[in-house]
Amino acid sequence: ATLPYDDSNIFAKILRGEIPCNRVYEDDFALAFHDIAPQAPTHILVIPKGRYVSWDDFSATAPDVEIAGFVRAVGIVARDAGHVEPGYRLLANIGAHGGQEVPHLHVHLFAGKSMGPMLG
Ligand code: 5GP
Repeated sequence: ATLPYDDSNIFAKILRGEIPCNRVYEDDFALAFHDIAPQAPTHILVIPKGRYVSWDDFSATAPDVEIAGFVRAVGIVARDAGHVEPGYRLLANIGAHGGQEVPHLHVHLFAGKSMGPMLG
């Protein structure tokens, strides 16, 4: 099962405004900002505003309105950034084997180059 949410994680601090981020989008359900260590010409993180550790507890327990709002926000961020054509990659790491480092749900948006094979 998903670990309890830890309000001291770095993205919780960003949501509370305790540490800065390079924001690209915000609405009632989501915040998007540039990754501090970009792995593509565009590397944006989109996070829900609710307290969710990962896709696991989010998909299992979030109200439908929060799930819809978050999914919509990811699409808005990609369109606003101009990456629908020629395309982009979304990635969510879940838990230890997923390589998740920050225990607040986030979707990576990679764009601006051809990403190649899925795990390349
Ligand atoms: P994960 O491995 O958990 O899926 O990805 C965490 C991501 O958060 C990494 O790509 C890392 O560079 C990014 N990151 C970690 N700390 C910060 C921070 O303080 N600010 C920003 N903007 N990104 C961060």
